[in-house]
Amino acid sequence: MTKIPGAREELDRAARWLRGQVRSVVVELTGDQDLEVALPEAPAITYWEEPLRFSYSVHVQHAMNGEPGVDPVQGARFLLVSAGWDVTVLRDVPEVPTNIEARTGEFRMSLLISQARDSLTVTGRTPVMALYEPRGLHLVSPECARCRRKLTALQVLRRRSLWGGQEPQPRRELWWECSGCGWLGYQHHEGERLHAMRRLKGREGNCFFCGEDQSNVAGEIWEQDGELRDWVVCLDCGTGNARRVGRAPDDGRSPG
Ligand SMILES: [Zn+2]
Ligand SMILES: [Zn+2]
Repeated sequence: MTKIPGAREELDRAARWLRGQVRSVVVELTGDQDLEVALPEAPAITYWEEPLRFSYSVHVQHAMNGEPGVDPVQGARFLLVSAGWDVTVLRDVPEVPTNIEARTGEFRMSLLISQARDSLTVTGRTPVMALYEPRGLHLVSPECARCRRKLTALQVLRRRSLWGGQEPQPRRELWWECSGCGWLGYQHHEGERLHAMRRLKGREGNCFFCGEDQSNVAGEIWEQDGELRDWVVCLDCGTGNARRVGRAPDDGRSPG
């Protein structure tokens, strides 16, 4: 994989800053001046799609002394707001730990304060960053099975069911089309078998999920549990779903 210059250093700097922020919150709420907050040795993969994206997480669990008269929720809120975080207290109801969510830029911090105010859990996450060039940029185009032209990469993005304001994500498969004969399909990994997809016409070509017209393509039909199915993907919103297209042909045996 080809490294993106400077990306890892930037993510490491973000992680050290986040560690400082998490530490100051925990120190403020617990009074533990000697607290050391560890960082993972390396960032973890947060999104598996290309380009792979990485982030650091910081996690601290600590006892609080539950001093009467001191409200740790207000203390935490004040501290975070002063440091420039946007703070939301998600739950502040009896019997349930209070959950304080904070964000600044792409940084996230979540605090759980137990009902008895005797335990604190803080989780922080850095922005999510690509550290390597996406593999797709260096892909060798396969040949069209029909007309032998080099296929062109087709970007199919998932635009639905993304959480936290996430950008659209490329689907896992590698999608290709032929500028010569119009062939369209995908492969699971570089160099593997190409699977042809056909464009669906009429009503079934319209995406049920995003409403886009004539954006659905379907693969080969297979048989499962006495039914014929195929796999439909919307090229616009990237939603894929298996669909029932009819009963499997009777193999001649009568039931029972
Ligand atoms: Zn072709
Ligand atoms: Zn769609």
